[in-house]
Amino acid sequence: MVQQYSVLINGKLEKPGKWIDVVNPANEQVIGQVPDCGQAELDRAVAAARAAFKTWSKTPIDERRAVIMKISAAIKENADELMRLLTAEQGKPHAQATGEIYGAAGMAAAQSTLTLEDEINEDSETRLSRTRRVPVGVVGGIVPWNFPVMMAIQKIVPAMLSGCTIVLKPSPFTPLATLRIMELVADVVPAGVLNVITGGDDLGPMITAHPDIDKITFTGSTATGKRVMETASKDLKRITLELGGNDASIVLPDADVKKVAEQLFWSSFTNAGQICVAAKRIYIHEDIYDELSAAIAEYARHVKVGDGAEQGTAVGPIQNKKQYERVLELIQDAKDNGYKFLVGGDHDPSVPGYYVPITILDNPPEDARIVAEEQFGPVMPLMKFATVDEAIARANASDYGLAGAVWTSDTDEGVRVAEQLETGTVWINEFLHLSPFAPFGGHKQSGFGAEYGKEGLLEFTYPQVITIKREKAAA
Ligand code: NAD
Repeated sequence: MVQQYSVLINGKLEKPGKWIDVVNPANEQVIGQVPDCGQAELDRAVAAARAAFKTWSKTPIDERRAVIMKISAAIKENADELMRLLTAEQGKPHAQATGEIYGAAGMAAAQSTLTLEDEINEDSETRLSRTRRVPVGVVGGIVPWNFPVMMAIQKIVPAMLSGCTIVLKPSPFTPLATLRIMELVADVVPAGVLNVITGGDDLGPMITAHPDIDKITFTGSTATGKRVMETASKDLKRITLELGGNDASIVLPDADVKKVAEQLFWSSFTNAGQICVAAKRIYIHEDIYDELSAAIAEYARHVKVGDGAEQGTAVGPIQNKKQYERVLELIQDAKDNGYKFLVGGDHDPSVPGYYVPITILDNPPEDARIVAEEQFGPVMPLMKFATVDEAIARANASDYGLAGAVWTSDTDEGVRVAEQLETGTVWINEFLHLSPFAPFGGHKQSGFGAEYGKEGLLEFTYPQVITIKREKAAA
């Protein structure tokens, strides 16, 4: 029998009775079962979070920080076990799973150093006005399947640091490492402050509609994000939405082809392309297009796709069947339209596991589905441009606005281009770097609000202004 995991409600590990199977995408075997929670478990988790809020919100921030540091330490101390579990449920190769586990522990530790000081608005003879930050209340956190541990930590840490309590729902596809972390920290976090429940896709809407949840922090697709916003609007819950992207990379003619080929490859293919900020459209100046596309294709031919638990695998499977079928559909559409493939395109359906070959397209049109839609898979369309203004216009012609990158030997020119891109983050000569101290959020339909940094933390608080009238001293 496979291992059955527990949810964490009010400080207790529970197995409520109904189960969801969790599948390893590398071989389609069931590797664990998690509770299929519904309204009853959610109500209990929210009630526990509400009760805990009374004391947690008044607990000094140093004490809250210390609890977060214990969570960070528990993740680090159990990194090897968690890394293996993460590869098994998510598919990413061991090296990338290790990066996610240590990254989550590091992000938790770094963000716990953020502070929430009062600000003086006016200190005059007639008035003292001060803004303090008060926690919003009970938070509902909803997490996707591509970086399940990092995203869970990204919800838990700012919520707890700000003085909120939280009910978190992992994706039903990738709940195992998160639930294992809850077993490790159940005795470390005061009861009710942190609750994690698993369930099917019907549990998300129950959270966003719950009358006793004050704020939703959601990471997932733009389509679901819109539904979250609609439901949360009924009682004006506060929301933070981190949604999809169709990030463009612009490679200027002075870029060093040899240096950037490998980096561009990994900006698209890390985690098999299942990253909100993966480079999903690569615009290359026509002067270097042939040389650079050949260098990327050559590099790609030596990268091993396979089970992330096997040595040498650099690109794992797609995480779930639905997404696998969607990526294959986009590749089929490119074939049907006669677009040219530089690498890949043909998968082998007889092999178990959700494997998509590394696929690189040669200058497909801007309205190709594989360019216009977020692929979220190991697919990279390379496109040729003639002028920088044209590249900027094409990059910006999207409803998304999450991130982008500029590749150049001239960083001043890189900044000039970056400042014209309509995205929340732009990297120059690097990719995928997120700082615990810089706000990360999407423009346009890639999101609402921000995570990380002070700005991310403030989203879990209300400003409260306290004004004292002063009598003017008699002259
Ligand atoms: P998804 O929107 O299908 O699901 C995300 C989460 O929402 C899951 O936990 C799911 O169970 C839950 N959910 C489903 N329907 C819901 C509803 N009606 N109300 C509330 N919750 C609901 O996304 P996914 O397929 O898990 O993840 C992939 C998407 O996430 C991609 O579009 C990707 O770009 C995006 N993403 C964005 C970021 C970011 O930081 N901007 C990071 C990672 C992933």
